[in-house]
Amino acid sequence: MTKIGLLGGMSFHSTIDYYRSINEHVAAVRGGHASAEIVLESLDFAAVRRQQVEGDWDGAGRDLAAAARRLQDGGAEVVALCTNLMHKVAPAVEAALDVPFLHIADAVAEAAREHGWTRLGLLGTRWVMAESFYADRLATHGIAVVVPDEAQQLDVDRIIWEELTLGQVEDASRSRYVEVIEELREQGAQAIVLGCTEIQLLVDGRHTDVPLLDSVAAHTRALGRMAAGLVTT
Ligand code: GLU
Repeated sequence: MTKIGLLGGMSFHSTIDYYRSINEHVAAVRGGHASAEIVLESLDFAAVRRQQVEGDWDGAGRDLAAAARRLQDGGAEVVALCTNLMHKVAPAVEAALDVPFLHIADAVAEAAREHGWTRLGLLGTRWVMAESFYADRLATHGIAVVVPDEAQQLDVDRIIWEELTLGQVEDASRSRYVEVIEELREQGAQAIVLGCTEIQLLVDGRHTDVPLLDSVAAHTRALGRMAAGLVTT
């Protein structure tokens, strides 16, 4: 089995899903009382949020890299960052490690490949939708992205920060997301990446018939397979 290092707390509402899901994968594969070997560095999200708002990405990169090192020192054999957005500083995190880093967009791309999807709608925080770091990583796997228009991006982003990362789930926000999702499909998206680790708390397959690619599910499946010893790092 591979010991998994999780860099979480961004927000804690989704880190809980990471912990549960990786353990469920291991229990399903190995049976009985089997569970995953996990080390967790759960950060104070208020401090990370301050760095985001102030644009202090270098500082955030340094802090996340230091936390990743602590995971490695705690025995982690692979490290994962439990957020899409903070992959903006993934190069700093990866550079600090001697063990492998499992990039969330690589896990998303792998799930897309299994379905044969090459054109995906992308929802997430505004940095994920408007900047290129996430789309560029998907492009290395031959995947193109379609993003919402400016006004839609503002709503999608606002709902993440004012509700989802605070643990609030509102019906009106779900309706807005479904509207945006359906418009992305009209623009040719074969499926929609829930590219923020809290979106699956709001929208899932019960709310739309547009195929959804949940980044938490994709990431934890890849991690769960490693944790269960099905694949090596
Ligand atoms: N969890 C969110 C994401 O996956 C945003 C919160 C954050 O990482 O700061 O992008």
